[in-house]
Amino acid sequence: MTSTLPTSITARATSSPEMVPLPISLRIRQRLDAAGVAYLANDNISDHLQEGELDQLEVEVAGKVRELLRSLVIDIDNDHNTQETAERVARMYLHEVFKGRYHQQPKIASFPNVKKLDEIYTVGPITVRSACSHHLVPILGNCWIGIKPGDRVIGLSKFSRVADWVFSRPHIQEEAVMILADEIERLCEPEGLAILVKAQHYCMKWRGVKEPQTSMVNSVVRGDFRHDPSLKQEFFELVKQQESMLY
Ligand SMILES: [Zn+2]
Repeated sequence: MTSTLPTSITARATSSPEMVPLPISLRIRQRLDAAGVAYLANDNISDHLQEGELDQLEVEVAGKVRELLRSLVIDIDNDHNTQETAERVARMYLHEVFKGRYHQQPKIASFPNVKKLDEIYTVGPITVRSACSHHLVPILGNCWIGIKPGDRVIGLSKFSRVADWVFSRPHIQEEAVMILADEIERLCEPEGLAILVKAQHYCMKWRGVKEPQTSMVNSVVRGDFRHDPSLKQEFFELVKQQESMLY
């Protein structure tokens, strides 16, 4: 009998970590760390999520948002407007505005360039929606993509799909454009690629300096667009024409 008590205490102590599992976000982060995979705000981690983990993550995030609201001294127990805000925000982050971090890239098929098309074309404006990594407030804008085809081509609507997926993460605009360029190069290996993004940043409009008219414009040019100034010029001319069609 004398040995029963210490044994049962030891058994309880060793089994307690199994009874209280680690938070799902911690388990995912440990897995990413062990694999040496980056998980910055604008990285996609979908390849490292297991079946059902996104649902568990949604529950965990909702709990944290609930605590955030309490820390903001909002009476979520009695305020009918915010009673389910935590669940809405968790769903919105994981499946809508930041879906580009947690969901796989939409399926995009590429086809051989059988007609050997080699003239440049532009697609735009494509609406892009993101949030700044610094304050998590919206970035809303337009994107134009210029392609000089290589051996493979993708459908026009696919540019919208990949842009939406890339921008639906916390970003800074400069990096968003680079990541989008990397993805398009991977999908269709063009001879030349040019991307222009014009966006309004709500962290400048809504807070901070509160400049309602300021926008940010940036571009990336690769391949033939980079080496041939006349091709680059043609891209910006085509964008100007597409913009004039808007008004
Ligand atoms: Zn910001």
